[in-house]
Amino acid sequence: MSSTGRHEADASVAATSAAEAGAAETSAAARASTALAIPVAPPGDPATFPALAAEIRELARERNAVILAHSYQRPEVQDVADHVGDSLLLSRLAAAARQSTIVFCGVSFMAETAKILSPTKTVLLPDLAAGCSLADSIDADQLRAWKAEHPGAVVVSYVNTTAAVKAESDYCCTSGNARAVIESIPRDLPILFLPDMFLGLWLQRVTGRKLTIWLGECHVHAGIRAADVERWHRDEPGAELLVHPECGCTSQVLEAAGDDVHILSTEGMVTYAERSKADTFLIATEVGILHRLALKAPTKRFVPVNREAICQYMKLITLEKVRDSLRDGVHPIEVPVDVAAKARRALERMISIA
Ligand code: SF4
Repeated sequence: MSSTGRHEADASVAATSAAEAGAAETSAAARASTALAIPVAPPGDPATFPALAAEIRELARERNAVILAHSYQRPEVQDVADHVGDSLLLSRLAAAARQSTIVFCGVSFMAETAKILSPTKTVLLPDLAAGCSLADSIDADQLRAWKAEHPGAVVVSYVNTTAAVKAESDYCCTSGNARAVIESIPRDLPILFLPDMFLGLWLQRVTGRKLTIWLGECHVHAGIRAADVERWHRDEPGAELLVHPECGCTSQVLEAAGDDVHILSTEGMVTYAERSKADTFLIATEVGILHRLALKAPTKRFVPVNREAICQYMKLITLEKVRDSLRDGVHPIEVPVDVAAKARRALERMISIA
């Protein structure tokens, strides 16, 4: 038994659906109390949104700033941003930004990633409390200990990790390119995948690679259960089901999957919904994506399989905080130079792989 054994899923064991179902149920239940302990911040008075949005756009022009927003942000924050997307798209945009300041409407690991990729720019996070339960599931000391138990293994880290964990990694990936990253690694090399167990288990299935997987999870996606999906699928028999691979239901859904089930990244969901001939979609991910989907495919109908799938961390960012961030220059994100240099290698590999 390894010293990190309680965090690690042996691929052959973890791949059984019974183990997956058990892990999902147990961990989701444990995380539910954490989620409930963090209330969703109120958005402010909607009547103030137009004036705040105008003030933000003017400040962005004055400060030579670009506003990037993740698809899980509040609708009014998405609407004021220059660009909205998933982690991979926003990382690429941050790296290519010509403005001197990036206001990152997302969570702290995303702002850190932007700073690592654009070290000469000022990167602002409107609320420093915007963290991530998935990124918190492993730290650099734990990763170093895990690596020591698996000498020679290639470390692939989901982008939802701290800069210090990225610095200990060979590759980063997002849900949008995780499969391509795994497939780019020679088949004879063992792989440690972290920190999301559901994404790791899905990758193992679609790539046919045996992965050693860290038992981390996002409390929001782990809380989306197979029962949520089954209920909606019964009620909306003609709908297509779009599932994020971080979801706790992914394995069970895959087992019963037909042509109407698609495991997709957030950006993949948007692209798929735009192109599909279907008119109704069941969405299994954080509910912030619904705003973007409705904008991109306005004639189609989107139904969340779990309306409580809300990331409290993402919702900490409000229009007022975006305004304050631009006006007062808060909160600048810094990453130690040595950590950033090592993390950049893993991130640049991620960005270079489609
Ligand atoms: S939805 Fe989950 S993975 Fe995404 S920021 Fe929130 S806690 Fe982290």
